[in-house]
Amino acid sequence: MRYISTRGEAPALGFEDVLLTGLAPDGGLYVPESLPHFSLEEIRSWRGLPYTELAFNIMYPFVEEAIPEADFRQMLDETYGVFTHKAVAPLVQLDTNEWVMELFRGPTLAFKDFALQLLGRLLDYVLGKRKEHAVIMGATSGDTGSAAIEGCRRCEHVDIFILHPYERVSEVQRRQMTTVQGDNIHNIAVRGNFDDCQRMVKESFGDQSFLGGKARLAAVNSINWARIMAQIVYYFHASLALGGPDRSMAFSVPTGNFGDIFAGYLAKKMGLPVSQLVIATNRNDILHRFMSGNKYEQHQLEHTLSPSMDIMVSSNFERLLFDLHGRDGLAVKQLLENAAKGPVSIEDYRWKRVRKLFDSAAVDDKTTCNTIREVYEQNQYLLDPHTAIGVHAARACRRDIQVPMITLGTAHPAKFPDAIVESGLTVKPELPAHMADLFEREEHYTVLDNDRADVQAFIAKHWKNT
Ligand SMILES: *Cc1c(COP(=O)(O)O)cnc(C)c1O
Repeated sequence: MRYISTRGEAPALGFEDVLLTGLAPDGGLYVPESLPHFSLEEIRSWRGLPYTELAFNIMYPFVEEAIPEADFRQMLDETYGVFTHKAVAPLVQLDTNEWVMELFRGPTLAFKDFALQLLGRLLDYVLGKRKEHAVIMGATSGDTGSAAIEGCRRCEHVDIFILHPYERVSEVQRRQMTTVQGDNIHNIAVRGNFDDCQRMVKESFGDQSFLGGKARLAAVNSINWARIMAQIVYYFHASLALGGPDRSMAFSVPTGNFGDIFAGYLAKKMGLPVSQLVIATNRNDILHRFMSGNKYEQHQLEHTLSPSMDIMVSSNFERLLFDLHGRDGLAVKQLLENAAKGPVSIEDYRWKRVRKLFDSAAVDDKTTCNTIREVYEQNQYLLDPHTAIGVHAARACRRDIQVPMITLGTAHPAKFPDAIVESGLTVKPELPAHMADLFEREEHYTVLDNDRADVQAFIAKHWKNT
């Protein structure tokens, strides 16, 4: 499998290089040159398979030149073996033909574990084979940092440095990052905001000379193709559990960077019958505004009760734009360069195509809280605020009552207790047993000034330079 850039000016790469590279040198994102396609008969034959075997069938075509079958199977067993539910991604019924797929049974209680537990293992495997070392540098406002740290804690060939804004992440989120022990794990609290952290990471990727040429910088944000790949699997898993592929499914996906829902779009292109994909956003609704009025325009960032979806631009949307423009990289490049300067639109016939592929809704904090309360009162089931946005959007956009509607449950409610309080419920979501002592564990992090040179010097000094 070869991978090409969405901006058309970078050389095609194999899986290993795409895994290690992150952003393409022309500024684009990598996508597979062509997708594997599975027949209904083949998909049907996967009914009843354990999650890891399904994952193998769906992902192996993407990695086969890089990793022998047995090694990849072992990686998948280890990755999904640490999840705390035997079904890995269990489905919970909310109403007639309406479901939540719980994607928060991994070690850090958010769906990002599905991809980042695997990504850490893939990186370590490929680096070990090449006898190379990588330094992961990432910025986080919450969920990505802890999932990435957890995914890399056992890696021998990776040092990970996660930047978070000092005193601006929730205590649960901070502790999930800073209480993981390991001499390759480094938490940096930057005296600045999330944008400052992200800018430092971006600038460091642009000029890696501070590493002295002895290690490469690797990315763990959702521009990394391997993350998207791992997220395709659970769409098939849900469908097979509810009578697919002999009936079509609808999915509602709480969306920020468009990674998770893009994986759903790919599942459909790979042969899974999907009749509806709902983009569910919070007040940071650039995607919903685009879907409603063909205007792609950055607004000011709003802080909401669903912080993991607080974004101004949606980086993975570029991968969809590439398909919408007939895979013309130069057209995408032009469009995104213009988008950086002001609002842009696409040709009407292309916009009509995208409207056929997706529905969308933007959900404010008040409606999010109302949904949490309603679902709890009717089902005694607690939704986290991100999932609640998905459930509301699912109900608002649903087209056919006979098609199962599955909302992706992206986080455990105990991760976001503020929203539960705000919704007026007195029930307190409990952390699962493996995290019950989170508030007693010892924390490790270093506070640094909002200064790129300081942060880079810290990284240069602390990575295992052997
Ligand atoms: C990251 C995240 C999202 C958004 O996912 P994208 O792939 O960026 O669209 C939604 N919910 C939670 C809990 C998350 O951590």
